[in-house]
Amino acid sequence: PAQSQIAVLESVQAFLQRQHGLYIDGKQQESRSGQRLPVCNPATGQVIGSIAQADSDEVDTAVRSAHHAFTSGIWSALRPADRERILLKVADVLEAHSEELAQLETLNQGKSIHIARAIEVGATIEFVRYMAGWATKIGGETMDVSIPVPQGARYTAYTRREPIGVVGAIVPWNFPLMIATWKIIPALAAGCTVVLKPSEETPLTALRLAELLTEAGVPDGVVNVITGDGKTTGEALITHPLISKLTFTGSTAVGKRIGHAAVDQMARFTLELGGKNPLIIMDDADIAQVVPGIMMGGLLNQGQVCAAASRIYVQRSHYEGVMNALIDAVNGMSIGPGMDPDAQINPVVSRRHQQSIYRFLEQAKAEGVQVHQGCKVPEGDGFYVEPTILSAVDHSHSIIHSEVFGPVLAVMPFDTEDEVLALANDSHYGLAASLWTTNLNTAMRMVPKIKSGTVWVNTHVPLDPAMPFGGHKQSGMGREFGKGAVESFTEIKSVCIAH
Ligand code: NAD
Repeated sequence: PAQSQIAVLESVQAFLQRQHGLYIDGKQQESRSGQRLPVCNPATGQVIGSIAQADSDEVDTAVRSAHHAFTSGIWSALRPADRERILLKVADVLEAHSEELAQLETLNQGKSIHIARAIEVGATIEFVRYMAGWATKIGGETMDVSIPVPQGARYTAYTRREPIGVVGAIVPWNFPLMIATWKIIPALAAGCTVVLKPSEETPLTALRLAELLTEAGVPDGVVNVITGDGKTTGEALITHPLISKLTFTGSTAVGKRIGHAAVDQMARFTLELGGKNPLIIMDDADIAQVVPGIMMGGLLNQGQVCAAASRIYVQRSHYEGVMNALIDAVNGMSIGPGMDPDAQINPVVSRRHQQSIYRFLEQAKAEGVQVHQGCKVPEGDGFYVEPTILSAVDHSHSIIHSEVFGPVLAVMPFDTEDEVLALANDSHYGLAASLWTTNLNTAMRMVPKIKSGTVWVNTHVPLDPAMPFGGHKQSGMGREFGKGAVESFTEIKSVCIAH
């Protein structure tokens, strides 16, 4: 049963007041390192808690716990149907605690409570249920082989998919709970065990998730959560010799470092990295849909979405109309804390990130870009950034090539289909794109020419656990979601039997 409002408030307050340790072997363990990092509420700038900075010895303890859990077979040797049943129970336990998780995330990450409820928690629960189903559907293939054989002999060959081992998972701060489950749940469906390091900015829901996994029946040591920054805790995890696979979501720069660390010990790896995603509006687009589509695709979670639209290309006849509509739309937006249900724009995650967005805007202004901002940010120390529209901007400006990861939309006109395809592809990123047209032929012609992992038509940003998600070019390697996500946590073994 879902918690009552009072129970939710009490749980959130009690959780915030706790001295958080590390989650190893099915329990909270006090950190011995003694170093702690503050955790803030972006709406107020106030410190609402602290986390331990795990040192390399503590990371080693967590990895060994996961390794022991893996080799003992308490998880990997379970019947697939039992793994599925426990993962379905995880979804039920998350559902029962959904309001508590949503509030905790809004208080720590800053996002709207509506988005926390619907996406961070709601979509996560759907994802867990979808992935649970794959636990019973992993399998190999049999194949007819042509090995020359002595007369009368035969070979039977088949493949097995076996869980890869201990997975090191490192996640960012924009959708902390959701992205943590994107790593943990397919790994568990495949029979792996996990050590998760959440972002030091937003560690709280990952620590709570670990407790709820235990409550749902995930055996001790199967999922461990270590907290701390990238340099100390993250590095100790990615270089640990008992890790068989690294799965990472975050910036391209850190992704490259993780890829190198993985290759050094031949750990497998999946990288979900940054994006600078184009949204293309053709002359024949349904213009009534376009402005709400841009607002959703570009400003969801204050633009702190790897797949967010940030380069808006408008075919010339609509350019002025779309530009004016966007400026009007952002001018009328209300900005406030994520817990305020009427606030349409909420704080970004941290002071550091707020300043980084402002630096991009200052640089753009210095290069001659026009910056339109119309609404007022609340007074106080919250980490707010006004929704911003850029005009007089083109591919000679640095902001077109940099991932700002904030509520900033650059709007540019174009004339021809070939021109916009060249502009859309003129990026070292290739995560996602959208195309707005009512002409099916135009869509079918253009989709194959856009170099990105996802192309939406007449929408921007919906993800589904069944649709593979990941990047071309410097937006990453490998895919999450779908059957492939579970398979990426397995090794293939070929078996050949002479008989
Ligand atoms: P980040 O790369 O700075 O940090 C991500 C995580 O890596 C954090 O947990 C951090 O502590 C850790 N880390 C940093 N240095 C490390 C190191 N040397 N070794 C091990 N771990 C290390 O990214 P961020 O600022 O948290 O998140 C924003 C970025 O994430 C954006 O670039 C965004 O596009 C990307 N992102 C991508 C996707 C996707 O699915 N493609 C989804 C969300 C966010």
